[in-house]
Amino acid sequence: MSGDQHQTSYPSVLLHIGGEWRAADSGRIGEVLNPATQDVIGYYAHAGILDLDLALAAAEHGFQSWKRVSAFERCRVMRRAAEILRQRCDQIATWMTIEQGKPIAEARAEVMAGADIIEWFAEEGRRSYGRVIPARVPAVRQLTVKEPVGVVVAFTPWNFPINQAVRKISAALAAGCSIVLKAPEETPAAPAELVRAFVDAGLPAGALNLVYGTPGEISNHLIASPVVRKISFTGSTAVGKQLAALAGVHMKRATMELGGHTPVVVLRDANVDAAARITAAAKFRNAGQVCVSPTRFLIEEPVYDRFVDTFHQATKSVKVGSGLEPETTMGPLANARRIEAIDGMVHDAIQSGAELVAGGQVVGNRGYFYEPTILSRVPTAARVMNEEPFGPVALMVPLPSLEAIIAEANRLNFGLASYAFTRSAAAVNRLTDEIAAGMLSVNHTGLALPEVPFGGINDSGNGTEGGADALEPYLNTKFVTHRSDA
Ligand code: NAD
Repeated sequence: MSGDQHQTSYPSVLLHIGGEWRAADSGRIGEVLNPATQDVIGYYAHAGILDLDLALAAAEHGFQSWKRVSAFERCRVMRRAAEILRQRCDQIATWMTIEQGKPIAEARAEVMAGADIIEWFAEEGRRSYGRVIPARVPAVRQLTVKEPVGVVVAFTPWNFPINQAVRKISAALAAGCSIVLKAPEETPAAPAELVRAFVDAGLPAGALNLVYGTPGEISNHLIASPVVRKISFTGSTAVGKQLAALAGVHMKRATMELGGHTPVVVLRDANVDAAARITAAAKFRNAGQVCVSPTRFLIEEPVYDRFVDTFHQATKSVKVGSGLEPETTMGPLANARRIEAIDGMVHDAIQSGAELVAGGQVVGNRGYFYEPTILSRVPTAARVMNEEPFGPVALMVPLPSLEAIIAEANRLNFGLASYAFTRSAAAVNRLTDEIAAGMLSVNHTGLALPEVPFGGINDSGNGTEGGADALEPYLNTKFVTHRSDA
């Protein structure tokens, strides 16, 4: 699987349970489509309850062995997995583009970033330890010990087949937990190759298990199992709320990385042209199917026309096409549901009074392609101003002041990412204090590096999947107090 010889034929994707690659016990399979052609390109093994029970038993067993491996050795295994992933980058990226649609350069960047994330967590695992707490009397020692929570189950979506899974796998393994991953049925090959990198690096059987199937059946069965101690989900707010409720019923820890409706604040003192170019590139990355995609552009009136015009010019250079073509900068949407959702929201916005600056149409009649779309002066009541579009649509809104912009930014109950463009230190301070979001990126798009926090508040979920804090949800703190003069 070296870079020069990668295959464009798509693999059959198996389950990975207890150290073995295997078909579903029932023999059931599901189809995988190429979103650029709508052709069936392959199959994944579709797990049933029996397979899930095997995965739970394997994960319980895997936890017993992995937690006893020293943090030093765990780090070595994980670093090997990162290196294997880098070596196989071209093959994995090709399969990811075929199953998900994104441009091959974005797929390669995702695989390489996945390796960086594994390394970051590998090292953090070596640095997670307890404290000694000063006691009130000399004969007493008080200390805390960090222990892995146990078996984790994780559910990850199709927009970043590796990136969403690698954060959960890496944090769990670095902490000494075992994990059952339900990866996305629509894009199964890339996450399976991620799992293979860990397996080939020498992870003990059962420490990392992979299943595909019917999402609701899998989450109901796994979350209810007494074997499982923690869940982590990335996906829509609606599903996140269901799974968080289920986690609550069974008293399981839960990390939730959900939808957003990212505001982009553009103030009159900003470098407006740079802001437009930077955000246009970010908007159409992965065809806008990114939870931190810039969405509501809240622009101070004096610079509104200039910003929209420069953004429009930048959008003209977006090349829509098959992700395998090197000149493509925006591939198809990932599935038919997205086309229907985006087209419905765009037409509703136009009917509500928004002006169509660019796009607004399905492209061609084969594959799920949609034009990069800009809507101007979008009324607050339009559906797209309230629901996460999750597609290549930029919403432009002129506003009179920073106060009005902050009020609009905070109007929705989402609170994942936010961006701002300004040269005013006072405005940055005010946004830092007042914007209701888990992340604020000023004058650049600086989110999602392995070493920085990544997560939202309110309806965007809770917990962080990046930075030094991301390991904590996978650890229990045990308190030990010892009196030596008894
Ligand atoms: P969806 O809500 O049907 O599914 C979202 C993800 O959750 C998918 O990966 C799906 O397999 C999984 N899922 C669905 N029901 C589940 C269940 N009961 N148990 C476990 N997993 C379950 O939506 P969709 O049509 O696939 O995507 C559309 C919406 O999802 C978007 O509008 C966006 O809001 C959200 N989404 C968010 C992210 C993100 O990165 N936060 C990624 C993908 C999708």
